[in-house]
Amino acid sequence: MSEPFDVIIIGAGPAGYVCAIRAAQLGLRVACVEKRETLGGTCLNVGCIPSKALLQSSEEYEHTRLALADHGVIVDGVRLDLARMQARKAEVVEANTKGIEFLFRKHKITWLKGAGRIVAPGQVDVGGTVHAARHVVIATGSESSPLAGVTVDEQRIVSSTGALTLDRVPDHLVVIGAGVIGLELGSVWRRLGCKVTVVEYLDRIVPGMDNELARHFQRILTKQGMTFRLGCKVTGATASDTGVTLAMEPVKGGPEEELSADIVLLSVGRRPYLDGLGLDAIGVALDERGRIRTDSHYATNIPGIHAIGDAIAGPMLAHKAEDEGVALAERLAGKAGHVNYGVIPGVIYTWPEVATLGETEESLKAAGIAYDVGKFPFTANGRARAMGAVDGFVKLLADRATDRLLGAHIVGPDAGGLIAELATAMEFGASAEDVARVCHAHPTLSEAVREAALAVGGRPLHI
Ligand SMILES: Cc1cc2nc3c(=O)[nH]c(=O)nc-3n(C[C@H](O)[C@H](O)[C@H](O)COP(=O)(O)OP(=O)(O)OC[C@H]3O[C@@H](n4cnc5c(N)ncnc54)[C@H](O)[C@@H]3O)c2cc1C
Repeated sequence: MSEPFDVIIIGAGPAGYVCAIRAAQLGLRVACVEKRETLGGTCLNVGCIPSKALLQSSEEYEHTRLALADHGVIVDGVRLDLARMQARKAEVVEANTKGIEFLFRKHKITWLKGAGRIVAPGQVDVGGTVHAARHVVIATGSESSPLAGVTVDEQRIVSSTGALTLDRVPDHLVVIGAGVIGLELGSVWRRLGCKVTVVEYLDRIVPGMDNELARHFQRILTKQGMTFRLGCKVTGATASDTGVTLAMEPVKGGPEEELSADIVLLSVGRRPYLDGLGLDAIGVALDERGRIRTDSHYATNIPGIHAIGDAIAGPMLAHKAEDEGVALAERLAGKAGHVNYGVIPGVIYTWPEVATLGETEESLKAAGIAYDVGKFPFTANGRARAMGAVDGFVKLLADRATDRLLGAHIVGPDAGGLIAELATAMEFGASAEDVARVCHAHPTLSEAVREAALAVGGRPLHI
């Protein structure tokens, strides 16, 4: 057995690498096991970062083709160089993953390269060597969920990983699942010239999101050229050298139909990835959805074994995983780490962006909480007009009795950036009036947030 560590973390995604850095900052001796060739997990390698690189590049392409002329900027002969776009994406990913390697060196974190298996509490096998630590943290993340009858080959039928590396623009991409990943990657390929059809089991897109926002978002995506087949159940997919034939039927019943595609993207959600960890043998308990069961301090049922990130319950988001990494490291160092699950923003990086935070109208109604709504459209915001980006609105929900902010929902330009102000406000327990009384620079998109806060009290100034 090698020299013992205070903590061994299995997985170097946002949960694991952030936990490692924070634990090292607090003076613990830290090792992080990662079996990929590069650090950063799903997020940096095949998730958040490469998808945002392609979203940015495809947005530049579409903007140059369709929007610049309106600004009086005439660009002739715009062409797509997909190979360069993909190469740039790879450079962005490499810079990020190398950045984590630098941080590991800086904080003297040992990277144990290989697959980790827990052989007993406090003991992790990596490539035949058993390493010991007082604490073991499982941060092994998630993988794309399967769908019966649809076999991913990463050629014709792809997961998000395959959809990020296509070397030509398909004629017709069918996306199964109208969630965040499907809509983001569908947008990338639509902008690059592909016909995109989204097939969804439910009768709405982005389940869980505020209904009004989701409906508005769907209208925008439809206007951009995406086609939606809602309430449709995919029952099978047959791939050939030339394409894929999908079999589907209406959820409410009715005749089966076929849909042809060049490429099918299966994006019906993600599930925890726990393969090879040896959890059965040591008796780590899972919940009904196959996630590691933890208490509110990320402890599993086995003393000394903790779990964080996509491997446990909660939204599968990188910033949620990171915050859990910090909170757990602080607890392991004897401090009081904590994550406020009521204030975790969710962002869809399409154009326009969509950002949501806290309660929705539906969840407040279900909980019987009386609320007021304040809304402000970007059509009435000077900066949005100057940008030529007026689609969308800010919607705030505040407790009717106390005016405390309970939810914030934005569809519009830079919604993901704008939501940060509201996250800060909600973290401090702010009322809508608190936000409304803060001086916001003019002309900025953030004025729409202030106006929505004013609208909660029935007194917006610019509408
Ligand atoms: C296409 C796509 C786009 C996304 N976009 C966003 C976004 O914009 N914003 C956002 O917040 N979230 C986004 N996500 C979700 C985000 O990537 C995840 O929530 C996040 O990566 C979870 O972090 P994690 O550390 O829990 O797990 P992961 O990032 O999955 O990392 C787990 C790591 O553990 C390693 N591992 C697993 N088992 C072992 C083992 N036994 N031994 C050694 N190593 C092991 C894996 O190789 C992996 O590197 C996106 C996901 C996808 C797929």
